[in-house]
Amino acid sequence: MSSLTPEPVTLARHAMATRFEIVLHGANPVSLRAAGEEALNEVDRIEALLSVYRPTSEIAHVNARAARKPVRVSPEVFTLLERARDLSVATGGAFDITIAPLVRCWGFMGGTGAMPDPQAVAEARAKVGMHHVELDRRNFSVRFARNGVMLDLGAIGKGHAIEGAVELLRDAGVTSALLHGGTSTVHALGRQPDGEPWKIALERPPNSPESAAELLASIPLTDEAMSVSAVWGRSFENDGRRYGHVIDPRSGLPTEAALLCALVLPSATETDALSTALLTLGSTGVETIRALRPTARCLVVAGGSTVPQITSHGIDCQP
Ligand code: AMP
Ligand code: MG
Repeated sequence: MSSLTPEPVTLARHAMATRFEIVLHGANPVSLRAAGEEALNEVDRIEALLSVYRPTSEIAHVNARAARKPVRVSPEVFTLLERARDLSVATGGAFDITIAPLVRCWGFMGGTGAMPDPQAVAEARAKVGMHHVELDRRNFSVRFARNGVMLDLGAIGKGHAIEGAVELLRDAGVTSALLHGGTSTVHALGRQPDGEPWKIALERPPNSPESAAELLASIPLTDEAMSVSAVWGRSFENDGRRYGHVIDPRSGLPTEAALLCALVLPSATETDALSTALLTLGSTGVETIRALRPTARCLVVAGGSTVPQITSHGIDCQP
């Protein structure tokens, strides 16, 4: 412990339309900084592979061509697509990277959302579902079974980037660090220099009763990731109702099953994908997640305009 410097090294970078930050503790600030820069470069590299907003990304390439012919992707992207498919199956389709036509229809693709025409929702919904995506491992190729299918890795990409960055930090010998992307996915590497777990503060959703404490929970993490998904992340109001950017692929409508949820697991890729699934499933999703990953800790705040209902497993909440 005595070899650890008291002053941490901190780095930040804008990527994936948000701010990534890393705090690193260790004996050698120069090598910590180098490791941190390399980790942030990894985030940039993964954004360039996955972003639907970059015409040169592998995913944009797939979206533009896979309805006409099989499109080859890198083994890394192929493996991530397989992982996304498996998580989609495991969540009964609550998490689904083919959500893009619905995200666009609800005005959330690069925008802050708007009420769509019901007919447009029905049309978009028909293009959503992993059964429209054929993954061929022999050729590392992707093919869409119909026109109009489009992938959006917005609910898993940040987690994958953080997982990749954490691997580089570990390889560089870093034993104590905290890395987050836009505060929605965080990974705690090791413990704080004083031996305590890292602690992440989780705020209540904005419509909570005034009597409630502002802090919902303080969540200890050691070699674990946590993701938070929320209706408020990106949303709009219409006729007194709030519509958020997480859409239930089964109904085609923004989820109303929960307002906020948090999930802790060793893998940031999984916490990212599964916290989005949990927001779609609501409190009943806690059992789905526990059946899938028995060690998961999670929290769901549901309740719309009434008193928020909190369902939690392994996370202590403030009253
Ligand atoms: P997150 O903030 O990780 O919960 O991801 C939300 C983003 O994922 C949205 O802005 C959409 O781009 C996309 N998305 C929305 N609904 C879903 C869903 N049910 N499954 C997968 N991705 C989704
Ligand atoms: Mg997510």
